[in-house]
Amino acid sequence: MEVFEKHESEVRGYIRSFPVVFDKAIGAELFDEDGNRYIDFFAGAGTLNYGHNPDAAVEASIKYLQDRRIAHGLDKATVAKQKFIEVFVKYILEPRGYDYKMQFTGPTGTNCTEAAMKLARQVKGRANIVAFTNGYHGHTMGALAVTGNEAYRDASYGSRGAVSFMPFDGFLGPDIDTIHVFRRYLEDHGSGMETPAAVIVETVQGEGGINVASTEWLQKLAALCKEFDILLIIDDIQVGNGRTGKFFSFEEAGIEPDMVCLSKSIGGGNPMAVLLMKPEADVWSPGEHTGTFRGNSLAFVAATELIKQYWADDSLTAEVARKSSIMMEALNGLRDEFPALNCKVRGRGLVLGIETPVAGFSDKVAACAFEKKLVCETCGADSQVNKLFVALNIEDELLHEGLEIFREAFREVARETV
Ligand code: PMP
Repeated sequence: MEVFEKHESEVRGYIRSFPVVFDKAIGAELFDEDGNRYIDFFAGAGTLNYGHNPDAAVEASIKYLQDRRIAHGLDKATVAKQKFIEVFVKYILEPRGYDYKMQFTGPTGTNCTEAAMKLARQVKGRANIVAFTNGYHGHTMGALAVTGNEAYRDASYGSRGAVSFMPFDGFLGPDIDTIHVFRRYLEDHGSGMETPAAVIVETVQGEGGINVASTEWLQKLAALCKEFDILLIIDDIQVGNGRTGKFFSFEEAGIEPDMVCLSKSIGGGNPMAVLLMKPEADVWSPGEHTGTFRGNSLAFVAATELIKQYWADDSLTAEVARKSSIMMEALNGLRDEFPALNCKVRGRGLVLGIETPVAGFSDKVAACAFEKKLVCETCGADSQVNKLFVALNIEDELLHEGLEIFREAFREVARETV
């Protein structure tokens, strides 16, 4: 730890929550430098849907490197990229009847949301973008402007112009239709809101507290966007790639966004981001949005193998549903065991969380779980939610073992609290 404390910037984050030096990782297990084993209920915040170092990806990557195939290709044509595109079209886009073009942005999620907003502004010739309360879209300037959390909104984060926030589903209580609120802002010329080029939204807010948008809300939002000629951008960076069951989190709602941001798990743990856009939204001129690390060959190689392995049929979707009910049952059990805490269990598929409206409670649970060698984090504007993200292919035994540790940690903190 000393080397990090001495030489690494104070910006260090997760290292403080999990103060050990990690070394190896396989599937849903992590090992520190002393060989201690941890169960991973964090999954790189949605980056490790297929677990750490999935076999097919590791083998293909080793072979690719050994054969000295192209590692850095800028946005040139490579065999690795060609194969990825073919596989993504065959297994993901075509079976769903989707017609999207792909843009490989810089390899992080924020590169992708940034590109989506820039493109949407060009397509519509308007500046304003509508974001939703508790949304999270990354930490570059444009992405920060559409991120709700107060912690990322002080003056040092710079200018955040041309963005309006609207209430997400449920933000104003269960009885208020927030799409109706949004509609009033659009139709009343005295609202002070300029017609936006686009809205950017997550179907389940992963960082913002596991807030789930209902199918009906998403459908109404998509219809409202059409009516007012606004582009719909779904940020599926955290909850896409099968996290809710289907490959895309919006499939169940039957909507077809104009743009989709994908990153995190798409490269099986390797940095990669891709912006999907309807062909008519593809108004870029050559090289207009660029970057040195667009298209990471190793991520293409891993992604190609993982998509072939997991998305040829619906078995992963079924697996997510089965594991989701096991986890929901455990979380509902904790909620019912401690009614005085007023907990709420939220989520969909394997995006799950338990909110406890007691200051500091969730952080204590996560810290206690870590002492018992379970890695999990908190989310929400006040860190009020314990977030449980497992690899979608986690073995049942590890899932139960991890849940038992989480229950023990929760109970210990709850007993001190009530
Ligand atoms: N959008 C969403 C929904 C995210 O959850 C995240 C990361 N937590 C991002 C964008 C930004 O991704 P990155 O950290 O890779 O820039």
